[in-house]
Amino acid sequence: MIIGVPKEIKDNENRVGLTPAGVSAYKQAGHRVLVETQAGTGSGFSDDDFSAAGAEILGSAKEVWQQAEMICKVKEPLPAEYGFFRENLILFTYLHLAPERELTEQLCAKKVVAIAYETIQTDDGSLPLLMPMSEVAGRMSVQIGAQFLEKPHGGKGVLLGGVPGVTPANVVIVGGGIVGTNAAKMAVGLGAQVTILDINANRLRELDDLFQGRLRTLMSNQYNIAQAVKEADLLIGAVLIPGSRAPKLVTEEMVKSMSPGSVIVDVAIDQGGSIETVDRITTHSEPTYVKHGVVHYAVANMPGAVPRTSTIALSNVTIPYGLQLANKGYRAAIAQNRALARGVNVLNGHVVYEAVATSLNLPY
Ligand code: NAD
Repeated sequence: MIIGVPKEIKDNENRVGLTPAGVSAYKQAGHRVLVETQAGTGSGFSDDDFSAAGAEILGSAKEVWQQAEMICKVKEPLPAEYGFFRENLILFTYLHLAPERELTEQLCAKKVVAIAYETIQTDDGSLPLLMPMSEVAGRMSVQIGAQFLEKPHGGKGVLLGGVPGVTPANVVIVGGGIVGTNAAKMAVGLGAQVTILDINANRLRELDDLFQGRLRTLMSNQYNIAQAVKEADLLIGAVLIPGSRAPKLVTEEMVKSMSPGSVIVDVAIDQGGSIETVDRITTHSEPTYVKHGVVHYAVANMPGAVPRTSTIALSNVTIPYGLQLANKGYRAAIAQNRALARGVNVLNGHVVYEAVATSLNLPY
């Protein structure tokens, strides 16, 4: 099969759909890989890196889209790319079609085979192509929190790990899933005092085992959240109720109880945020605002700040599925792999993923 990797054109998107290691994997399996010139620059991969791995470098997005049988991307196509759609082209990327009526209609009209990273789901319910971005955001949340706790960045001037003779900072993490666990690893590693709250008692047991007494687990309820938040130097919001808006677990009163110069990093902002005073999405160029004396950080695309790590992490998990599509063709690959089949959003001109059809009021 011919695999195409165009340069991402969304504002400030520096990731790329495939790494040179990914190109090499496709080549070894007998496929051709076409990469648009400069596609990897934002992630630190040059055209020479891709050529050395066996890719053919093409001068324009048009050539890549027209010659490829499967396009490997990161973000959903933008209107400038709709003209490249054609029947039976496989589009393998994050799509998030639910709010994207025009894109969905274009994919249907042109009969593209649209496979969304975010809906590939294994039988145990996990989302393997979303997980690495949660790992990145969870790990970043502590490093960002540490930075904004510094006085020049508006914080109270506290070092997360303290030093001998000085107490370390209190880090409170609400939600002990992928983001929360990765945040906890970083915070514990830096020597902070860490408290993690979750509503799932089994998850708290797993965390207790994993961290062997190096953090405190607490059942998530209003009373415990209020107590923990009052003492927090750094508060990290990391809850998720799949398919729903994040619940507002930390109230404005609780935020008022925090000492001045404390920091909130609400990672759950992409689902509306889990903290009442997080009332807006912030950006990498203006990442924080102050409310009740507390620094608030609410960037919805945190992994975008570390495109090299994010590109490699994403490519690591997309390649096994991409290889199945390329080796077997999409029909056989989907028939043989239920996780991959759940990723199919548009097929034969129809939306075939129920949640997308429902949110756009389209036939399913
Ligand atoms: P996850 O499903 O792995 O974990 C969510 C955890 O929240 C679960 O353990 C669940 O039991 C817990 N939870 C649910 N209700 C709770 C409550 N009332 N109190 C305490 N805990 C509760 O999800 P995840 O992958 O860790 O993602 C967490 C959030 O981070 C999601 O909203 C996700 O979209 C978001 N995220 C944001 C970015 C970003 O750049 N801002 C990047 C990646 C992920």
